[in-house]
Amino acid sequence: MILHIPHASQNILVDFKDVFILDPDVLKTELLRMTDAYTDELYDHPSAARIIFPISRLIVDPERFVVDDEEPMSAMGMGVIYTKTSHGDVLKREMTSGERRELLDRFYYPHHKALREAVQSELFSEGSVLIVDCHSFPSRPLPCDMDQMYPRPDFCIGTDPFHTSAELLNKALAAIREQGYSVMVDRPYSGTIVPIEEYRKNKAVSSIMIEVRRDLYMDEATGAKNKNFDKTRNVIAELLKALLSS
Ligand SMILES: [Zn+2]
Repeated sequence: MILHIPHASQNILVDFKDVFILDPDVLKTELLRMTDAYTDELYDHPSAARIIFPISRLIVDPERFVVDDEEPMSAMGMGVIYTKTSHGDVLKREMTSGERRELLDRFYYPHHKALREAVQSELFSEGSVLIVDCHSFPSRPLPCDMDQMYPRPDFCIGTDPFHTSAELLNKALAAIREQGYSVMVDRPYSGTIVPIEEYRKNKAVSSIMIEVRRDLYMDEATGAKNKNFDKTRNVIAELLKALLSS
């Protein structure tokens, strides 16, 4: 199993700080809104390889397509390099193509290479691989969210018609419901990551996205963990265990 954790970091690189034109306090709030805080602590399994993106998605978002025409969120200024905030305000100054390329070369491509290599290594040793795309989401929809449904479920499972089998999906749903939580499939968020080399080609590559609602484990206003943090981490541990059961 490979745990892909793309949005856990709040690290805004010192050498790119000047590209943000937001007031520091507003930037801090935006970081809080957009970071899947603590997902690097919440998602863990003894036998899993973990691919964790080391910087904030406000610098580069590894879950977006590089080419804006292929990326639906680029219409909202939230392609691979965000230009707008979740509320549609200007986030960064105009960046040169050289600056964009440097960010992609330093962070985007190495991250995807690491994911691809982890997938290939597990395919080679096990014959198949399960990727779990690990996220969290705010309890209230952000203006940039395509799905504005409210209230939101405790968990959201994202699927791909080719790479998420009904069996895998049912294991996830059962593990969540049996622990007393609500869950929706592909709402309010949809899809799950698969390396482009394997995408819709190789059935031996399974993938499923798990999103946990943030108020189940943190105070969304302050960013601090809440009293249910350990409980929620245990729920996710049970869920990951269930995905691997036969
Ligand atoms: Zn996320």
